[in-house]
Amino acid sequence: MIENPPITLLDNAGQTQNSSDCGAEIIELELDILGEPVHLRISAEQRQAKLADIVPMARRLSTRLALVVLGKLRENGKHVPCRKGCSACCSYCLIPLSVPEAFRFTEEVMAMPTDRGRAVMQSSLETARTMLAERPAEFDFNKSAETDYQAQISRLRGWCAGLQLACPFLSEHLCMLYEQRPTACREHIVTGSAGKCEADVADEPQVVRMPVSILECLGELTAELEQSEVEAVMLPLTLPWVQENLERAEQTWPAVGMVKSFAEIVKAKASENSATAIAQI
Ligand code: SF4
Repeated sequence: MIENPPITLLDNAGQTQNSSDCGAEIIELELDILGEPVHLRISAEQRQAKLADIVPMARRLSTRLALVVLGKLRENGKHVPCRKGCSACCSYCLIPLSVPEAFRFTEEVMAMPTDRGRAVMQSSLETARTMLAERPAEFDFNKSAETDYQAQISRLRGWCAGLQLACPFLSEHLCMLYEQRPTACREHIVTGSAGKCEADVADEPQVVRMPVSILECLGELTAELEQSEVEAVMLPLTLPWVQENLERAEQTWPAVGMVKSFAEIVKAKASENSATAIAQI
């Protein structure tokens, strides 16, 4: 059983009232996403929070921003082939998770009913075993000082495609963990032809660069709180990775301070990327 997290993305005035009533602080965030004003309100309770506690809010935020981008692309006549049942982009084992997502994902797997939890763990560990056995000597999957996730993904993409391993949570072209899917999956939008997303096609798909990547923001937040380098954990390797980082999973910070730092990172990213994001739309 997972406790209700102390951090929530609010979407209506009633929710604001309820949050204020229970002593939570509301952090307002005004963003300009591709010329569209986006007003966000995040509620943070006056208590300590683990890194994992920010993830449910971050996932919702990631989906919300991806929907704004999708709307803008369609408004500008761009063809977006992504649809339910097209699982071409899930046909790689390379899905990066931020550290908070790795901790949250593990909590969620542990809280699943026994049969489902076992199936998820088994699928994940089988893929991890193959990846570790085939890993080129120069790759350190779990740690990288690179802050540009896109560069990391491109570097590993060829190797992963060669392994011909799909995401362990892909089942009959559907995501077994759709509600809990990583921000990397929520933020992955392509334009043009879906054919280029297939693992055995040499052409790279036209991936839309998010004006604000919540995956990157979570990575930077973790580095700021822990005074460390930005890290990414590959999805299939999450369970063994978390076992080696249990102390970090339990460390806490004031929830309000955590959200304020996160909001500053999101705002900085939005203004930093605004020109390049508009250029591709
Ligand atoms: S987690 Fe789900 S959406 Fe993400 S790559 Fe795996 S199957 Fe696809």
